[in-house]
Amino acid sequence: MKIIMLGAPGAGKGTQAKMIAEKYGVPHVSTGDIFRANIKDGTQLGMEAKKYMDQGLLVPDELTVKILLDRVAKEDCKRGYVLDGFPRTIPQAEVLDKALTELGDKIDYAIDVDVPDENIVRRMGGRRACLSCGATYHIEHIPPKAEGICDACGKELVLRDDDKPETVQNRLSVYHEQTQPLIDFYGAKGVLKTVDGTKDMKDVFGAIVDILEGAV
Ligand code: ADP
Ligand code: ADP
Ligand code: ZN
Repeated sequence: MKIIMLGAPGAGKGTQAKMIAEKYGVPHVSTGDIFRANIKDGTQLGMEAKKYMDQGLLVPDELTVKILLDRVAKEDCKRGYVLDGFPRTIPQAEVLDKALTELGDKIDYAIDVDVPDENIVRRMGGRRACLSCGATYHIEHIPPKAEGICDACGKELVLRDDDKPETVQNRLSVYHEQTQPLIDFYGAKGVLKTVDGTKDMKDVFGAIVDILEGAV
């Protein structure tokens, strides 16, 4: 099972991707998480990626595509994966498509988590992230058990630098210009499914499970 999560920054892709990964036993592959782990470790890749991420811009395709292809070539991805935050441009989608075709493989579903821009801005201000394990919370909608502390690993939760309002606006413009065209790209391939991302987290997941299990 190979799944792509589409949707604006803050639409809930990561939240849903983690639930899918857990239920179906496939890895959750997030390019944003890979970049943040590299920034935390101070690698060359991390330093390069940070320059773009801090401005709400996309990391160049050359860098991004390489780390993604390396990741999905690993043993644990043989049975499938959920891609969260990749592809984000048509050229990225084309490279992935070509790599899969060469293996006689394909994407099964591209799930668009649809949320209007107004809701996004509100959500991002409330997002709190654990930079240690990648878990994500929301101060109102999905609060951690103890304020400011990650349920999963006990580390401190932070407001990501790129979740500050001025950067969120940039990220939304970048999304509309460069990423939204992927909806038509996967629509044309016949694998696009859309879910209403404004619903409660559990209802969104229910809609996704129905799709994956062929109920709709
Ligand atoms: P969100 O979950 O809010 O959409 P991500 O964690 O997916 O954010 O991404 C954070 C940042 O990392 C992006 O704004 C971008 O700078 C960079 N990034 C992540 N994935 C990609 C990608 N596929 N192509 C280019 N840049 C990316
Ligand atoms: P993305 O990966 O698309 O950037 P996230 O999964 O990180 O989005 O979710 C963005 C923020 O919204 C987080 O704070 C998350 O806890 C919260 N969130 C996710 N899904 C929902 C939902 N269905 N309703 C309300 N808040 C949500
Ligand atoms: Zn954690």
